[in-house]
Amino acid sequence: MQLPISVYYGNLVQIYLLYPFRDTLLLTNNFYAVFTNDLMNLITFALMEQEGLVGKIRKLALQIGFADMGCAKAQRLSFEAERFMQAQQQGFFGQMEYLKRNFEKRTDPTLLVEGAKSVLVFLAPFGSGKIESKPTGNIAGSSTLKISEFAYGADYHTVIKERLNRVAYFIDSTVNSEHNTAAETVAATLNTTPNFKKYKSLTCRVFTDSAPIMERAWAVKAGLGFIGKNNFLISPTCGVKNFIGVIITTVEIEPTATESEAIATTTATVAKNKPLAAKNERNLTVPSCGNCTLCIEACSQKALFAPRSIDARKCLSYKTIEEPLGDSDDKSQQPVAATEKWIFGCDCCMNICPWNRFNKEGWSEFRSNYQLLSTKGATAGFWKTLTEEQFKTLFGTTPLMRAGIKKIIKNIERYEDNNTCRD
Ligand code: SF4
Ligand code: SF4
Repeated sequence: MQLPISVYYGNLVQIYLLYPFRDTLLLTNNFYAVFTNDLMNLITFALMEQEGLVGKIRKLALQIGFADMGCAKAQRLSFEAERFMQAQQQGFFGQMEYLKRNFEKRTDPTLLVEGAKSVLVFLAPFGSGKIESKPTGNIAGSSTLKISEFAYGADYHTVIKERLNRVAYFIDSTVNSEHNTAAETVAATLNTTPNFKKYKSLTCRVFTDSAPIMERAWAVKAGLGFIGKNNFLISPTCGVKNFIGVIITTVEIEPTATESEAIATTTATVAKNKPLAAKNERNLTVPSCGNCTLCIEACSQKALFAPRSIDARKCLSYKTIEEPLGDSDDKSQQPVAATEKWIFGCDCCMNICPWNRFNKEGWSEFRSNYQLLSTKGATAGFWKTLTEEQFKTLFGTTPLMRAGIKKIIKNIERYEDNNTCRD
């Protein structure tokens, strides 16, 4: 028996399907759930079939929550490699020793993953939606302690990798069709329980913020946006507050931007996006900064010393997270006068950017500790009375572990000892 069904997919597409009833399913309690799940998987697959592999991957990525996705051909970066080397030679990396290693692999994904053909780039939103944040940060009141928004919830490495693994599994089982039927592949990757079989690591490797890759550069190459004067990858459609995740694969996948389409970070392209007349005027229909310099002015540490150039040693993000604890006693390393007491990361150059109005709603996992951090966490007493054990219990699976409680307390004391905060 067959039944004609009409289904609305999103707002736009109406699909008519003939779905074969199976007698065994008919009129059982689970019928509706089984039927609906199967049906949606079939529809998803039918839509994906109409597109190339990159279209299928993009559709899946958006369905599981990524704000955008693009693909670039895996090849050596030359302009960016030069920029990276200059930054290293000028000592801007401070004591981030990991940045000084693996230069060749960092600038050439085919050395990082043997046989790499494609670099897939994904944007994972972490902001609080489209509301443009004020430069004073997200925790109300200028005398409160501030934690960077990227650390309001679960560790983004774990959260993003889990979703990237779904996409990697999808790619692997699509090109190695002996693993699964196509419909099973879609079902497994959309499923929210991580129970799918592991993909072959020879085909795909997933990364976010932990491997020698220039993630912002690859996002530009994949056509996802441009590099702002604050150094961020800014997406004209998804704004500023996005983590970047990467899949490097040996599968050849169609690039989503040509060299010239990619809004490159070269001076040539910056010149092409004509500067606007008035200072801080920006045209949000043109994906560039124009004459705006708000982020440079917002950086209390003068770490952004020129457009797209950062001396990380001066950056509060480096000082409060990356800088080894022992060095915090060195007065030359202390933060200079700041209007805000950032004790883990810093969001000033991010929050002030007008492109924030395009932010997508962040994943809920990234905001699970928002209440705690914006109330008790904004007071020195809370942190100073936490034991190591209590800290681990509360924040053991969050980005705050990178600094640890000792460093966070030291960060608070820096403001107190040196009275460096102007308010
Ligand atoms: S994160 Fe803060 S300190 Fe670092 S460059 Fe941006 S505004 Fe400056
Ligand atoms: S604040 Fe202005 S200059 Fe800075 S990145 Fe945003 S648009 Fe560009």
